Amino acid sequence: MNPVNNPNPSRQPPAAAYRGRLAPSPTGYLHLGHARTFWVAQERARANGGTLILRNEDLDSTRFKMEFVDAMLEDLRWFGFEWSEGPDCGGPFAPYHQSERMEFYRATLEKLRAGNCIYPCTCSRKDIQQAIRAPHAGDDELIYPGTCRDKKLSTLNSQPSTRFSWRFRVPDGETISFMDGNYGEQKFVAGKDFGDFIVWRGDDVPAYQFACVADDAAMRITEVVRGADLLVSTARQILLYRALNLPPPDFFHCALMLDDKGERLAKRHDSLSLRELRGQGISPEQLRDGWGVSNKAG
Ligand code: GLU
Repeated sequence: MNPVNNPNPSRQPPAAAYRGRLAPSPTGYLHLGHARTFWVAQERARANGGTLILRNEDLDSTRFKMEFVDAMLEDLRWFGFEWSEGPDCGGPFAPYHQSERMEFYRATLEKLRAGNCIYPCTCSRKDIQQAIRAPHAGDDELIYPGTCRDKKLSTLNSQPSTRFSWRFRVPDGETISFMDGNYGEQKFVAGKDFGDFIVWRGDDVPAYQFACVADDAAMRITEVVRGADLLVSTARQILLYRALNLPPPDFFHCALMLDDKGERLAKRHDSLSLRELRGQGISPEQLRDGWGVSNKAG
């Protein structure tokens, strides 16, 4: 039909414009492994004519240092990253520092509570500490045994000094599947591959899984690009999207960069921090040499 004669030209909504994000945590200097995953995120945003946003994941005040925030922005720029929304340049979904979004997280937590999707948990501090970080491969959360599953807030309110976290109740036995843009179909069984997970820590800080979903949805992210060590976390996060009645984005997980012993690069690999490499006079172009083919699933 000639569009001029179309009585309902706006009937078909346009596909949502691509929005991707870089979501570093300022807990140390960024290293080459971060840069490679972020580079894929930037390339995919560019290839889709999309927008790239930078979100500073600075909720864990026990682990992050202010100096790393500035270093992170500087290292990212040096490497050649360009974002059009972020903590340094603002944007329609500001603030882009997670530490400034507490009221929003509280309101979102309330939705989970109203839907009876979470329960107060008084289990150990060790579990709670693990929950804040993105649980990268090797230090994944233990399957929670369900000790507090039937605990009620009203019981705890009668003991005001008791510290508790909020835990998400997973549907035991259900297979959570999603189509990963790099690894293809992924399936994880709730209660077996991962258990009830913390969404809010006992020291009143939102946990990674929860803040990430709340922000990715609020910032209208259409594709999440991140390391393959977070594949199981994606299954957890899909449950949060469902509980919050929000559409999940697409996911693209990148193969991790390994050191010469075959171990995942971590912030402790100082020799491979972007700072250190830059100090040695190595250019971003040299560091990116050959990346086009080496980040495929496999
Ligand atoms: N800040 C998280 C990390 O450093 C982000 C993970 C993600 O991209 O979802 O691992």
